[in-house]
Amino acid sequence: MRQSLRSYNCCRSWPNDMETVYVDGRAGEGGGQILRTSLTLACITGKSLHIENVRAARRNPGLARQHLSCVRAAAEICGAQCQGASLSSQVLEFQPRHIRGGDFTFDIGSAGSASLVVQTVLPALFVAGESSTVTVTGGTHNPWAPPFDFLAETFLPAVASAGFAADCRLIRHGFFPAGGGKVALDVQPWRRSPGRTLNLCVSGGERLIHARIYTARLPGHIARRQEKLLLQSRLKFENIEHIEVTDSDGPGNCVMLRLSDSLRTTVLTAFGQRGKPSEKVVGEVVRLAESFLRSEAAVDRFLADQLLIYMALLESGCYTTNELSAHLTTNIETIKKFLPIDFTIEQQGQLYRISAVRCA
Ligand code: ATP
Repeated sequence: MRQSLRSYNCCRSWPNDMETVYVDGRAGEGGGQILRTSLTLACITGKSLHIENVRAARRNPGLARQHLSCVRAAAEICGAQCQGASLSSQVLEFQPRHIRGGDFTFDIGSAGSASLVVQTVLPALFVAGESSTVTVTGGTHNPWAPPFDFLAETFLPAVASAGFAADCRLIRHGFFPAGGGKVALDVQPWRRSPGRTLNLCVSGGERLIHARIYTARLPGHIARRQEKLLLQSRLKFENIEHIEVTDSDGPGNCVMLRLSDSLRTTVLTAFGQRGKPSEKVVGEVVRLAESFLRSEAAVDRFLADQLLIYMALLESGCYTTNELSAHLTTNIETIKKFLPIDFTIEQQGQLYRISAVRCA
């Protein structure tokens, strides 16, 4: 039986036929995002989830601490029963019950990304029908995950434009690999309002670039070198700010470019790590910015995969992006397993236009 999200939303009733969605974690990109999207949509639709080959395409397949925290967090929010929720497990059964809002505290117990736990639970809390607070302890600035600044300045404003309202605060920095950071969110229930959708198709004109270099427990010459390298690039900066983090458990470094136009801010980040030259760190973030600026896309490659669930909840919406990442296409296929939604992808020169279309 397929039932649309709309009917769950309106009458707060839940399917009682215990439909199970089977997900193969080897599909597409083969990483943690397939698991997180499946957990979120199992919570929201009430469908049971059976996922095998969790993170099969990774060097360390199965549930890592961050993914296990996502499972536990999702289970707490919807009272799910789980089997296989243990470290390294490659098979998980997740039987959700009713979503509830409330006050939640999750501790990843490692430098696993706090933002990715937020990514998992946030859509479910938006449809919970009551407000929530969430505190997550873990990494706040991790490679391969949204840093806190992206969550605060890029992601939350983007979904707020479609009526998904949440505020976040950084309580403590946590860099990979020490972790120990903390973020807090206040989440308001989402009220579907006719005609309100996610429309991020045009950019807001000239983009001003502000750079932010974070260092924690590292010698001062690193930030100075990274600033010099930024100034040698072809990008023009409004300012370059150095933030020396004093509340971090361990060392950390990232170079962030904040690209602001009249409509939104896009935070692009590259992370430093031991043995990685500053040339490489700065080169990565400059290339991300150059590709994004050249295309005039409204949405960068990271936000692009993160908006899809929200478009599925809205059963509408569109955006333009400069890259069709494997995360994006894999997330589309995962979402379609749970909800009667399809996405169209049109190439327009250097841009891709992604739109959500409700299945007939
Ligand atoms: P893995 O299985 O690779 O260990 P994971 O669970 O850590 O995976 P992925 O499946 O790779 O993660 O998903 C990473 C998520 O983090 C994606 O939604 C991606 O858009 C987001 N992300 C990665 N890097 C950034 C960044 N620099 N800025 C914003 N978002 C990011």
